[in-house]
Amino acid sequence: MGLYVQALFKYLTNTCILVLLMSCDHANTSKEQVTLALPTIVPKVPVVESSAGKIQFGSPPEIAKEWMRQKEDVPTIYVLPDPMLRDKVNFGDIEFPIYWNSFVKGWLKKGKCITLIGSFQQIENTKKILQETIFGPTRFHLEQAGHPQDEVERVLRESYHFAVKDPKGIPYPLEAFIRFLPFDETGTAYMSEDVSIHARKNDQFLVRDGGKETKVQFQALLAEKSKDYHFPTELFTRPYFGMTHIGTSSGFDPYGLTSCSIIWVNNKGLLIDPLAYIGLHLEVLGIQPGDVPDVFLTHIHGDHDAGLIEYILLGQKIRLYTTRIIYESFLRKAKAITGQDFDDLVDFVELAPNEKREYREGFMITARNNFHSIPTIGLLIESPSGTSCFYSGDTYFVPKDFEEYEKSGLMTKQRIQELMMGFDADYVFHEGGIAPIHTPLEPLIKASRQRTSGKNSIVLVHKSQPKGRNKEELKVASSGEQFVFEEHKKDPILQSDYQLNDH
Ligand SMILES: [Zn+2]
Repeated sequence: MGLYVQALFKYLTNTCILVLLMSCDHANTSKEQVTLALPTIVPKVPVVESSAGKIQFGSPPEIAKEWMRQKEDVPTIYVLPDPMLRDKVNFGDIEFPIYWNSFVKGWLKKGKCITLIGSFQQIENTKKILQETIFGPTRFHLEQAGHPQDEVERVLRESYHFAVKDPKGIPYPLEAFIRFLPFDETGTAYMSEDVSIHARKNDQFLVRDGGKETKVQFQALLAEKSKDYHFPTELFTRPYFGMTHIGTSSGFDPYGLTSCSIIWVNNKGLLIDPLAYIGLHLEVLGIQPGDVPDVFLTHIHGDHDAGLIEYILLGQKIRLYTTRIIYESFLRKAKAITGQDFDDLVDFVELAPNEKREYREGFMITARNNFHSIPTIGLLIESPSGTSCFYSGDTYFVPKDFEEYEKSGLMTKQRIQELMMGFDADYVFHEGGIAPIHTPLEPLIKASRQRTSGKNSIVLVHKSQPKGRNKEELKVASSGEQFVFEEHKKDPILQSDYQLNDH
């Protein structure tokens, strides 16, 4: 019997409507791939047009995508609300406006940059955040934490390799990406001769532009789903071992949700890289946070960790799986955003790269140090019966370049070996982002063809869907798509499926 469910969400802001369309024959058989359209959250913030350019008050995650959807320029002047954290969301997230203007629009090379206005303390905090996300941890932080010297040197060597450099070969400093303009003691910031911004009490601001004055009331408005809606949870069944993709695209794709997935292990989830507004996304999928007690953090770029603070503040004490270096970066970033110490709020489970350890119920987990602009890891997970899944995380995987890097001293043979890991797993989800910090398609097509016959092709994530009829050899996973690795637990001796009692 066919089953057809259609539901409409109307959001508070009246600007975003989600059409949830689902059609499948036997909704309760978990072998079927159930694909859902997930909501686009539209954050609303005040914007004032001025003779110096658009001035945006507050910068919630994914706001750059909304400007792209409107086919408008991403603003270049930002004013931080105080505090930045509102309703568990960071309204001072300016990573992607920086990346967009610096790299996509080419401002870095033209000597232009965005302007950030805020209190002295907020500017100091933002510098700390951007140090971690653009350049990675400093030598001081790595050495102070007592990491082995060869690991410190590797991290710094690889970050330096990826640093964007000027024509003389010198890395651009933070000030080339962003101009900091603190409010003076009267709460005034002079943007240009004509334009000044004045901070008032209670989230109010005033913009003076020549003779014109504009009052601004900052409000942290977020899209909200209508209260009478119930997600048909019975349609969503979880495999014993499998994966549900919530977001599969990049931070620059206006029509795709940013990378975020759940690996299911016997009905409980391991959330990989919580995307922004994670609470609402899980609600739409009918998933309780209690069903997903574990988080795997690949790295702290904003398109991978924007929902982590929110997820932690939802209240349950999550187990956070990552390496110590990435965890320390996250703690410094979270403290700079919220003023709060996050060490007490999570149970940190340290993953030592290349060391297999038990995850739970006989499942084994191995982290791998990636090759990316800041410390990043990938993940291999294996079931007790030997089914394996590799999730690459952001990395640059181009084997022919690695040989060059060995000659130049950037990489050792052993390091190259590490970077080849994962491709013989039964299921491979590889990022297919934009070089030079992500992997171009060609080596992945090659790696997919080299896989032993009978194994699935590599599936891409962190990539927008190919446009129109332009079919690519490798499939890009879609939002809401579920992959079943093992539907039921296999008998460890007979290797046959058997139903669990609670199924
Ligand atoms: Zn990244």
